[in-house]
Amino acid sequence: MRLILLGPPGAGKGTQAQRLVEKHGIPQLSTGDMLRAAVKAETEVGKRAKAVMDAGELVSDEIVNAIVAERIDQDDCARGFILDGYPRTLVQADAVADMLAERGMFLDVVIELVVDDKALVGRILKRAEEARAAGQPVRKDDNAEVFDERLREYYKKTAPLIGYYYANDLLQQVDGMAAMDDVTAQIEEIIAATLR
Ligand code: ADP
Repeated sequence: MRLILLGPPGAGKGTQAQRLVEKHGIPQLSTGDMLRAAVKAETEVGKRAKAVMDAGELVSDEIVNAIVAERIDQDDCARGFILDGYPRTLVQADAVADMLAERGMFLDVVIELVVDDKALVGRILKRAEEARAAGQPVRKDDNAEVFDERLREYYKKTAPLIGYYYANDLLQQVDGMAAMDDVTAQIEEIIAATLR
């Protein structure tokens, strides 16, 4: 199964992706996590991405596409994967379609977590607060100022993917404002129907 989770920052993609990993035994490919790991390891990619990420803007399509192409060739992706935070631009959406076609693969479904913008900044600030309380590092982009820019980037560059996948008959929507377990249940229903 190959699926994409789509939605603005703070929509709950990461949480739901984790649950899908556990239930279906396929990996979560989070470009945000991959980029943060590159920044931490101070690789060439990490050095190029750091300032852009800290400002809440998008890293170049070229960098992100290359990271994903490399990742999906690893053995654990053979049975499928969950893309979380990728694709985030129309160029990336075309790139992933090409990547999969070259490998004789296809996308099963794109699930959009539909949320109320006003709730998002609160969720992000809560995530930062929880990390702080647990003594974990707080993401540099998890604050109200950078969040605004992340949301703007989402509307400018990522939201057009909703129309793109709708037109490709791949889009399914879930109510991302429902309780976490309800969101999971909605997603599982879509997956069951898709694989039927
Ligand atoms: P969010 O919580 O906003 O969904 P992520 O953890 O997915 O954030 O990503 C954090 C940052 O990493 C983004 O703001 C962006 O700078 C960069 N990034 C992640 N995925 C992509 C992508 N597919 N294309 C470009 N930049 C990306």
